[in-house]
Amino acid sequence: MSSSFRFLILASSSAGNSAYLTDGHTHLLVDCGLSRRETFLRLQNAGVDPDCIDAILISHEHSDHVTGLGAIAKKLKKPVYLTQATANSLEPGAEQQYFQPIAAGSLLQIGTFSVQSFSLPHDAVDPVGYVFQSEGRKVGVCTDLGYMPDSIRFHLQDCDLLLLESNHDLEMLKVGPYPWSLKQRVMSRRGHLSNDVVSQFILDDLTLRTRHLILGHLSEQNNVPALAHMVAAQAIERRGLGQLELTVAEPRKQSVTFEL
Ligand SMILES: [Zn+2]
Ligand SMILES: [Zn+2]
Repeated sequence: MSSSFRFLILASSSAGNSAYLTDGHTHLLVDCGLSRRETFLRLQNAGVDPDCIDAILISHEHSDHVTGLGAIAKKLKKPVYLTQATANSLEPGAEQQYFQPIAAGSLLQIGTFSVQSFSLPHDAVDPVGYVFQSEGRKVGVCTDLGYMPDSIRFHLQDCDLLLLESNHDLEMLKVGPYPWSLKQRVMSRRGHLSNDVVSQFILDDLTLRTRHLILGHLSEQNNVPALAHMVAAQAIERRGLGQLELTVAEPRKQSVTFEL
């Protein structure tokens, strides 16, 4: 049976993050880390009319998630959901009239989607991840976190599709070009997830329900797509999750459209 439930990554890396999700009724944009022009171009490449977007959700204020927000919100004139602290930390602009402050951890209804937000351990003022549910399907978007607390494991249970950060290989980070202070930041409990933490999450938490695991927000200095894929694939094989389709999001390219 064909479905109109679709998920598309427009970009996923420290150079820009943005994703699109629809259940066929409600159309959502998650993060605006690309310019308006590039965001609209990539949506159109995938056959999506940008004017159909009903709402924007923002995870946190880092520039790789909000660079295009002002221009995109002013053009679309649709609600922008984000935590109050995140809203306060952004440069004031005309797009603020569209802001709909939410509390981290709250459950929202946005059109036909129920949207659960959850706090992320990350060095931003009040960062959140999101789980979207509609028509019996569940999609999780979870990047920019330093470790995997039980509360997040709970929210990500039984996602049909999960976009999960697999930011760095610990060895590459240690010997790589970053100054020590930045290495410490990335490795900290408020930094970014390593390939090894993703592997452990697959072993401990993934279930047979998950059809698509997409590894995202890969570091271009401290990771290699083939390595992130191999580490996750080994864990998937050990768990015997034969139904799972594993994809590594190319940092600067849009993904295929995933149908659920
Ligand atoms: Zn980021
Ligand atoms: Zn961040």
